[in-house]
Amino acid sequence: MRAFDATRLYFERAADHIDLTENMRRLLITPRREVQVEIAVELDSGELATYIGYRVQHDNSRGPMKGGLRYHPQVDLDEVRSLAALMTWKNAVVNLPYGGAKGGIGIDPAKFSHRELERITRKFIDGIHDMIGPDIDIPAPDMGTNAEVMGWIMNQYSKYHGFSPACVTGKPVELYGLPGREEATGRGVGIFVLKLLSRLGRKPQQTRVAIQGFGNVGSHTAKFLHEAECPIVAVSDVTGGYYNPAGLPVMEVLRFALDHHGSLGGYKGGDKITNQQLLELDVDLLVPAALGGVITRDNAASIKAPVIVEAANAPTHPDADEVFAKSGQIILPDILANSGGVTASYFEWVQNRQHYQWGINRVRQELDAVLSEAFQRVWELSEQRHVTLRTAAYIIAIGRVGRATVLGGIS
Ligand code: NAD
Repeated sequence: MRAFDATRLYFERAADHIDLTENMRRLLITPRREVQVEIAVELDSGELATYIGYRVQHDNSRGPMKGGLRYHPQVDLDEVRSLAALMTWKNAVVNLPYGGAKGGIGIDPAKFSHRELERITRKFIDGIHDMIGPDIDIPAPDMGTNAEVMGWIMNQYSKYHGFSPACVTGKPVELYGLPGREEATGRGVGIFVLKLLSRLGRKPQQTRVAIQGFGNVGSHTAKFLHEAECPIVAVSDVTGGYYNPAGLPVMEVLRFALDHHGSLGGYKGGDKITNQQLLELDVDLLVPAALGGVITRDNAASIKAPVIVEAANAPTHPDADEVFAKSGQIILPDILANSGGVTASYFEWVQNRQHYQWGINRVRQELDAVLSEAFQRVWELSEQRHVTLRTAAYIIAIGRVGRATVLGGIS
């Protein structure tokens, strides 16, 4: 099953609960616009290279479209389309005044020099600058991109349209960024984990956690949960997993990654395991925080964690989701679990437009307030309707987008 079909299936399952008509389903699921641009650049070697950049704008009935930009070899139009739809539902479930979009380029950023990445990014913006903007579509970081890339985007976009800090979020703090944006997705995951554990009557100190992916989201999730006294027993990245059943020294792991350009390769403080073994560990909480599609029909039955919090986008295949629904394993879905990032991006966008900047304490306070309200609504609806947290989140999101679409007028 392709990525967009999986997202669509989750949508359809929730739509069945609210008796959405066929026409309305088609309208809500079909992306508004899909763009594919050629990115031709000169590499440092003098060689000419060509890549394809994608931007899918899924829905704008609730506001300008918003979603990250991914640089990863697996990026293709289908994946970007699926991630764009997820952004529509995510922004709606947290009630941000945004629609959904996503973009990406199918490259491995580790294989390029700094200057090459800058040239690729600027060329991509040359290709899409007239279809993005503060009131149209606002990119942000995702896998393989970071604050620096967002700074290049702001600079390149502003060459065409004048000073426009609100055209992109997740920028460096020194360049109209927001203190706390970088940590916000992982922090949000941590906030949701604590709320979920409290509802389930579980203690953080007795919750052994495994985290797949140690980039922006995975590392900040590890730090937050470590500070909340959860033992982090395993972490991983593209180089493999590192496991210590007694708990890893998280601050030391974070320092190691910082000293090795973000990589865990060569870390010796735990037993070496594979990424697949990490997913199947006997832990109390599993946090996939890397690629999509890692939990499938084939490995679902081997996953022992009673609670799974989807920090990554689309880590769980719908077939695996059904296995967990039957086994009673609880999943906090991506559209809620990783919404802390876009929520902080919203704060950044609002402040760029006001030329005003909050301090980190206010950012954290407001983030907590927005996420707490969203969690409560999803949890309560799931109890009332006897549906999974994912279906409850989709019901809320589809309801909001559907109402805005009808109220805005279709014809
Ligand atoms: P990142 O590029 O900062 O880090 C990605 C991590 O995944 C790295 O540690 C990398 O080594 C690891 N990884 C890559 N391939 C892997 C593989 N095959 N197996 C195991 N690990 C692998 O990316 P990020 O921003 O942390 O994003 C991670 C996930 O979170 C993505 O699914 C992304 O869509 C989602 N997300 C990110 C944000 C954000 O604000 N950055 C917001 C919402 C959701």
